[in-house]
Amino acid sequence: MNKIEHIGIAVKNIESANQLYKKLLGYEHYKTETVESEGVTTSFFTCGESKIELLEAQHQDSPIAKFIEKRGEGIHHVAFAVSDIKAEIKRLQAEGFTVLNDTPKKGADNKWVVFLHPKSTSGVLVELCQEIE
Ligand code: ZN
Repeated sequence: MNKIEHIGIAVKNIESANQLYKKLLGYEHYKTETVESEGVTTSFFTCGESKIELLEAQHQDSPIAKFIEKRGEGIHHVAFAVSDIKAEIKRLQAEGFTVLNDTPKKGADNKWVVFLHPKSTSGVLVELCQEIE
């Protein structure tokens, strides 16, 4: 793992969350992007070497809608940058982690992504991401 790439935060309303995080960080988000496959609208702020990813559900079946229903707004996942996502999947499976999708899928911000089940990571949804070349 190279660094914490971003922290994903589930929000009810991305526009008001953008305003809030603009106040908190002191600058604007640099992009907004919809990921149809996950049913989410995302927005990204840089913070040094890492980022904050705000996530709003597009519809009630989105994993973000379900998360907010159960736990309210808050930290949804921690994403680690990796150089070779397929090798990391194999390594982590061999270590006993549950990988939710063993084929990387296209996530937001030009990344291949996979998620690890929180049951195997002390309750934290972990994302691995690799920049798409
Ligand atoms: Zn993420």
